[in-house]
Amino acid sequence: MTAPAIPETTALENDLPLLQRHDDVTRYGIYPTADRFSEDFDEDRYRHALATHALGGLRPLSLYVHLPFCVSACYYCASHKVITADHNQADTYLDYLEREIALQGAAYGATPKVTQLYLGGGTPTFLQDAQLSRLLAALQRYFPLAAGAECSVEIDPRHIGPESLQLLASHGFSHLSISLQDLSPDVQRAVNRMQPAPLTAAAIAQGRALGYRSIHIDLLYGLPRQTPASMADTLAQVLTWRPDRVSLNHYNHQPDRFKAQRHIDAATLPTADDRLAMLQQAITQLQGAGYVHLGLEQFALPQDELAIAMRQGRLHRNFQGYTSQAECDLIGLGVSAIGKVGACYAQNHRVLEDYYDALAHHHLPIARGMTLAADDLLRRSIIQSLLCQSELAFEPLETRWLIDFHHYFAYELEQLQQLASNGLLKLHRQGLEITPKGRLLTRSIAMVFDRHLREARNSARFSSLI
Ligand code: SF4
Repeated sequence: MTAPAIPETTALENDLPLLQRHDDVTRYGIYPTADRFSEDFDEDRYRHALATHALGGLRPLSLYVHLPFCVSACYYCASHKVITADHNQADTYLDYLEREIALQGAAYGATPKVTQLYLGGGTPTFLQDAQLSRLLAALQRYFPLAAGAECSVEIDPRHIGPESLQLLASHGFSHLSISLQDLSPDVQRAVNRMQPAPLTAAAIAQGRALGYRSIHIDLLYGLPRQTPASMADTLAQVLTWRPDRVSLNHYNHQPDRFKAQRHIDAATLPTADDRLAMLQQAITQLQGAGYVHLGLEQFALPQDELAIAMRQGRLHRNFQGYTSQAECDLIGLGVSAIGKVGACYAQNHRVLEDYYDALAHHHLPIARGMTLAADDLLRRSIIQSLLCQSELAFEPLETRWLIDFHHYFAYELEQLQQLASNGLLKLHRQGLEITPKGRLLTRSIAMVFDRHLREARNSARFSSLI
């Protein structure tokens, strides 16, 4: 069967000098970023937000459950995790998680319509089958799944057997997300994650045999000892498995922030030119194999539901990445989890002891959050459009938000002119459109509208002056 042609709107152009100029753009996928959350936002404000929001009629609900345990540390990891081989720790965690589920269920009040469930981590499949069953039963008690709900789980092929996959499938799980990074043994050794290709291939084959309809492979480029050749070999192998989705994430080396990364010798990291060569080569391979670019660093087969949602203008982003379920409320459960209800974001404690302590005292374990002002909601909808549709029409925003776009965003439009002159976008009187050359740099374009980022940069500049 020949691969379907790539629709023009998803075409990409790799302009190496341009990518080099924007290589410092950090991971940016949602507005506002979690570092804008404030500790002033507490449980009372969350409960108030929930009650007020309920008055306007509840929306479909998405659940995110964070399961933080991992058997060993991958040195590139930037997730909230707890390294242990002791599975009893998961029992203790579930004791508290069940309390949180019950508290959130009571606070939510009405019977929710859960249309999306995502188990992330850590390693969700660190949980043994009885523990997974216990978790799913607790969720079902307070947050029953709607018929046809989309259930996804992150799996680690090193720590999952066919029985767990079978168990999850019997509970309606249909989407698997598999961390792989790079297949080169040199790279795997350097990041402390030995995961030979046959192990991943077996997990994919088992998943498909059990009826999982979407397999997502996560790759990282810029890892220690990784080369353009090792990345090309990895991609060539991955493409033989024909995953439905592939992410190409950039490894961000921040040893000051992430302890595990201190094991990585910075001298073994690829150069900026090599990193970009990897990205370019990977994109060429993915496009050659018929994958379409969804946005940022995610690709999918044209028949995948996200690719279809993109073509139909229904693609959306939440904290887990792209989704076809626009505007769900989101309840985050577990240590460090983030939720979103109406105009509010709430994040749980990131330290396990603090999370346990709040629940032991019958409190929701909310540590920080944010209530979005009208200006933030407007900016959020603009950034969503840019990240998901690669274009922006000004007139609907003017009508909905009662603004004169050119006046309200005079500063931003001036910044965009600069990017337009570099060929990243086309700016018209009525809107803007990201060009194939600009699609890999959508973040740089979206960030122009991030008021908090601008304020943070200005205040850093101001403090360096005094
Ligand atoms: S990358 Fe995944 S498996 Fe590895 S330490 Fe981080 S959360 Fe755990």
